[in-house]
Amino acid sequence: MDVRTIGHWCDGAAWSGTSARSAAVTDPATGEVSGRVLLAGRSDAEVVIAAAVRAAAGWRRASLATRSKVLFRFRELVDARKEELAAIITAEHGKTLDDALGEVSRGLEVVEFACGIGHLQKGEFSEQASTGIDVHSKRQPLGVVGIISPFNFPAMVPMWFFPIAIATGNAVVLKPSEKDPGASLWMAQQWREAGLPDGVFNVLQGDKVAVDALLDSPDVASISFVGSTPIARYVYERASAAGKRVQALGGAKNHMVVLPDADLDLVADSAVNAAFGSAGERCMAVSVLVAVGPIVDTVIGKLQDRLAGLRVGDGRSGCDMGPLITREHRDKVASYITAGVEAGAKLVVDGRDVSVPGDGFFLGPTVFDQVTPEMSIYTDEIFGPVLSVVRVETYEQAVDLVNSSPYGNGVALFTTDGGAARRFEEEVQVGMIGINVPVPVPIAAYSFGGWKSSLFGDTHAHGAEGVRFFTRLKVVTSRWPDPSVAPSRGLELAFPTHA
Ligand code: NAD
Repeated sequence: MDVRTIGHWCDGAAWSGTSARSAAVTDPATGEVSGRVLLAGRSDAEVVIAAAVRAAAGWRRASLATRSKVLFRFRELVDARKEELAAIITAEHGKTLDDALGEVSRGLEVVEFACGIGHLQKGEFSEQASTGIDVHSKRQPLGVVGIISPFNFPAMVPMWFFPIAIATGNAVVLKPSEKDPGASLWMAQQWREAGLPDGVFNVLQGDKVAVDALLDSPDVASISFVGSTPIARYVYERASAAGKRVQALGGAKNHMVVLPDADLDLVADSAVNAAFGSAGERCMAVSVLVAVGPIVDTVIGKLQDRLAGLRVGDGRSGCDMGPLITREHRDKVASYITAGVEAGAKLVVDGRDVSVPGDGFFLGPTVFDQVTPEMSIYTDEIFGPVLSVVRVETYEQAVDLVNSSPYGNGVALFTTDGGAARRFEEEVQVGMIGINVPVPVPIAAYSFGGWKSSLFGDTHAHGAEGVRFFTRLKVVTSRWPDPSVAPSRGLELAFPTHA
């Protein structure tokens, strides 16, 4: 296999930087090294940030119509070539091609939302707020914004942020995950072809060194981070201390609560899709199924039936589930299975039995029953294909369990009782709720984000919150001298009041 070098994108062109460090990029389905990604040093970061600073000065003055046209062109190019992008994602991440295409189309939703920037970035106007005085507000771009993304959605997560950042007149420095950096460069090329001025969209490849350079740079106005909770907390604290606006989305442990009146076939299909899609490497994956009352054995039987036919293999081969991202991560997830057995949970389906030819990082779907809240398979975000079933007797116990979690990203309730669903929406302390919907990722016009340790900062991604995050508010109070309306009142040193 050819080993490519994956570098940065600076000022509208591929760029190698000066750092001598690099890291291997592997094909998780074969275990082969397919490329080496350059890891930026501080001076590389400074060069890329400087290019963004130069470009931001011009782009903030581009008309709304110009920005919107570039976004429409970007949308058309990515949509027409989405198979190319999906193939890059599958080759570096391992998820199935269908799943990768789904990720691209959910990312494109945000581009489509941002195409309406002419409507989204409007200010307000109050005529005659005081006699002869008008007031209006405007939202202006921040300047250079930093985006730091995780491995599990190399196209969609950056697209939660950069379409809105660019539409609102900012320049972007994206620091993708070093595990699957290819998608970012492909998207950069589409931006260039779409007519985005050089330097408005840049990619800085790297690890902690590149992240810290963005967090510390006085020229970077904001940070949008998505990744694990410990790093999200670190990024939030360090970037806030440097005076930046920060949104830092962290990890998750999502529960799916099943009431006794639920449609149990829908429950089983939904649990399998949400727990094992993308091999469980989704921040909205269901990792805990909370079965209320006597339905649990029926649910487990239905899960077993479905899992018996699930095909695990190379994501390009038309299977249902691909490999995990790295060998180390696969081994870590497998060690959680061992820990669950040792802690006394009942292993119903053992993913360690899966056999796929070659040296890929495979692990099959795993289901535990009789999991209790002190076990590590319950407390920890495993980020792999492991579903824990917890048995409770009542609705109240189920809600207590969900609300005791330090995370609050997503949750789902399965029921046919509208009153119970309404009460659940009201009581549960989680940012995104699905009612008979297992992966309740909001559409682009709403905002994505969790509560508690799943999000640091107060702004969620995309939707109206995204527009607010990437713009700064100004309010202008103006009087145009016109003696017939409001003659000057001369010297008046008291605090101004309205007339
Ligand atoms: P990660 O935290 O390891 O990495 C995320 C980013 O931070 C990467 O770009 C990485 O290079 C950088 N990074 C890693 N270690 C760092 C350090 N010590 N200092 C500075 N930067 C560092 O996360 P990951 O493994 O790539 O992604 C999986 C995690 O992301 C899971 O916890 C998942 O729940 C979470 N996630 C959350 C959401 C959400 O919306 N809340 C969405 C997707 C993924």
